[in-house]
Amino acid sequence: MSYLPDFIQKLIAEFDKLPGIGPKTASRLVFNLLHRPDDVRSLAQALTEAQAKVHFCPECFNLTDDALCSICSNPQRNKTIICIVASNQDVEAMEKTGEFDGVYHLLNGLLSPLEGITPDQLTISSLLKRLDKNNAQEVILALDQSMEGEATSLYLAKLLKDKPMTVSQLARGIPMGANIEYTDEVTLSSALQNRKKM
Ligand SMILES: [Zn+2]
Repeated sequence: MSYLPDFIQKLIAEFDKLPGIGPKTASRLVFNLLHRPDDVRSLAQALTEAQAKVHFCPECFNLTDDALCSICSNPQRNKTIICIVASNQDVEAMEKTGEFDGVYHLLNGLLSPLEGITPDQLTISSLLKRLDKNNAQEVILALDQSMEGEATSLYLAKLLKDKPMTVSQLARGIPMGANIEYTDEVTLSSALQNRKKM
């Protein structure tokens, strides 16, 4: 039993649900915030505002507050080269390289038999429609080199095998087990340049 009031325990439990935050960090964040009432107010306001405005881009599933995200609506981006990533953090990492002028498709997850994540829970059916619609020339698989990332890359490569486009994968400059999100720009940039046909 905790000596803390229920509402604080509930708040800690909410923070604890976030990735990379354990119960200790969750408590630390909550106590820290509760000592700063002004910051709590602006945080609550920012969260409510973001939640009200944000939605998935209907093309690529990036987060946006507009009809299309800023990448899909940019006429300078090549819509026939589609880079497949797992999440928003991966788009951030790829954009930082400044090397890619195509568009993205966010799967919003990776296949994971252990966690019961199957192809129909990812944005794969939308991807297939989009490849036809955009007359895609190349698909670049930029997925983590983890078990889930590899399984997803293989699944997609098989699925796209008979499509009239090149399917490539980021080169292995990225260490095994690494996340795209945490890979530095130089490594990611060279992995993109040296991508391998699948
Ligand atoms: Zn988009």
